[in-house]
Amino acid sequence: MSSYAEFYRRSIEDRDGFWREQAALIDWQTPPQTICDYSKPPFVKWFAGGTTNLCHNAVDRHVATRGDQPALIAISTETDTEQVYTFRQLQAEVQRMAAALLSLGVGKGDRVLIYMPMIAEAAFAMLACARIGAIHSVVFGGFASGSLASRIEDAEPKVIVSADAGSRGGKAVAYKPLLDEAIRLSKHKPPAVLLADRGLVPMDLVAGRDHLWAALREQHLNAQVPCEWVDATHTSYTLYTSGTTGKPKGVQRDTGGYAVALAASMKHIFDGRAGETYFSTSDIGWVVGHSYIIYGPLIAGMATIMYEGLPTRPDGGIWWQLVEKYKVTVMFSAPTAVRVLKKQDPAFLSKYDLSSLRALFLAGEPLDEPTAQWISGSLGKPIIDNYWQTETGWPILTICNGVEKAPSKFGSPGKAVYGYNVKLLDDQTGEELTSANQKGVLAIEGPLPPGCLQTVWRDDARYVNTYWSSVPNKMVYSTFDWAIRDEDGYYFILGRTDDVINVAGHRLGTREIEEAIASHPNIAEVAVVGVADQLKGQVAMAFAVLKDASPLEDPQALLKLEGEVMKIVDGSLGAVARPARVRFVSLLPKTRSGKLLRRAVQAVCEGRDPGDLTTMEDPAALQQIRDLVKV
Ligand code: ATP
Ligand code: MG
Repeated sequence: MSSYAEFYRRSIEDRDGFWREQAALIDWQTPPQTICDYSKPPFVKWFAGGTTNLCHNAVDRHVATRGDQPALIAISTETDTEQVYTFRQLQAEVQRMAAALLSLGVGKGDRVLIYMPMIAEAAFAMLACARIGAIHSVVFGGFASGSLASRIEDAEPKVIVSADAGSRGGKAVAYKPLLDEAIRLSKHKPPAVLLADRGLVPMDLVAGRDHLWAALREQHLNAQVPCEWVDATHTSYTLYTSGTTGKPKGVQRDTGGYAVALAASMKHIFDGRAGETYFSTSDIGWVVGHSYIIYGPLIAGMATIMYEGLPTRPDGGIWWQLVEKYKVTVMFSAPTAVRVLKKQDPAFLSKYDLSSLRALFLAGEPLDEPTAQWISGSLGKPIIDNYWQTETGWPILTICNGVEKAPSKFGSPGKAVYGYNVKLLDDQTGEELTSANQKGVLAIEGPLPPGCLQTVWRDDARYVNTYWSSVPNKMVYSTFDWAIRDEDGYYFILGRTDDVINVAGHRLGTREIEEAIASHPNIAEVAVVGVADQLKGQVAMAFAVLKDASPLEDPQALLKLEGEVMKIVDGSLGAVARPARVRFVSLLPKTRSGKLLRRAVQAVCEGRDPGDLTTMEDPAALQQIRDLVKV
């Protein structure tokens, strides 16, 4: 048996022994009394009775051994600033922020909503909340008033931490007016707002409510705020899912389980070592930003890069320039970002010394083969796809390089990660699919490992009903993703369970059809949805973005392209999978986190209301589709 197979087996069969060992990767004030309490399934308590603190583990514990090493590297190509905070400096800033929050009345268990651009103060705020046992709820800075208002209502924060503005492509994007409007819309009114003034956009302050960070920081310059030791099960934060399939769900996370899960993942998955630099290109508004910009790297004693700016400004080499400058060893990004870089001059990839980099991790959406091939060929480094969810907080499927260097397979995020008892189930009967290459729902047998969601914020019933009741005859956690597993134990994600389409009795994952279509040389990106059809039950409809858009103006050329695409699908999947139509658009509707909003496309095609669109990036994309299907 390979060492990973053995490692995995032990994590499932000797669960308590395995996680007791992992728990030693973090500092505890009092050691856990129990490792895993699963007496009330599906609710699980990890490391109950143990007391610890996320901020202590991320910051304070490193000060004695590596106080003068870099911890937070805040870079903005928007404002042309670059500031390195050592662990000691970070500890001081976090204490100032913690003191400011305390002075505004925040206590243990109170919520603090963080609506911030990618600036160092956002990290201070998250860590300061963890330090005093307050629960943070970070809302992506790109959201407008409506989305923000509903999150304010749900979190009922004592304080909102925000800034005058973000910046994108060199243009300031004012936050304060959006925040004021959101507070006006919300039933809950936060008693205090703490604002970082970057000097980008003038702000109108509300007397008695709004406070400037610079002023409070000055007052608390020498603040000493000890870490509040909290129970392992104490809620550290809440965070919303991306809203790809519907109304976002408020994920609630614990403290001890999360810290242990992250510490273990830094070692076994990312293979990142103390003193090195980690660069995740995500945003603190997403789960990747929580786990792998802020907490994971810092817990591991690594420096973490927080980057505000586009991947293409000042030019398409900026990320690689940072890798060279800060000797980044581990990098984490998303396929959507790689597709952006693919359009840039490939010379940028050979311009810098990337010898420090060990691997590039990608997650968030399916990594299509052309994108994987391109980045792997251009970088000459291992590209490691990893599959997980906001709910789980860390990878479910990947290659655990820190345990055993195993090969990746294109199109597969890899094998089940230790701790996750992953199953493929028949969605009609709930039966486990044990042979290779069968399609089923990807599910996790309880208990979920440390680090995963405790529940849906303030809604235990929704947690049980949504996640644990969707597979017939079984109480298992459903990921709502559809997958197959090959004979070597590698999984392939075929799409969301909602996106499985049924054409005349044949069940097809939209991802399979999309992969086939994307192999056409002139197709950059494509969305396939199932549309109700009287005769066949459902038919596939494809909406594609062209690499070379010149045929868009020429109906004859488009018809020819449509025929070519259908032929490709016929050849690779068979005529059942052939889309009824292939339409061409200049962009596809996506969430702010870059995921295809297939359910909205499907609703528009079927003439239905597309539902909650508050997380949509650009409404024009959906309008194009509406216009196309109308005629
Ligand atoms: P919502 O749950 O609100 O509908 P969402 O599922 O997009 O939104 P996230 O938690 O951000 O919210 O995304 C997790 C989902 O992203 C997974 O369930 C899966 O569908 C997809 N995903 C993540 N990583 C990968 C990957 N490596 N390969 C394929 N799909 C992935
Ligand atoms: Mg989801």
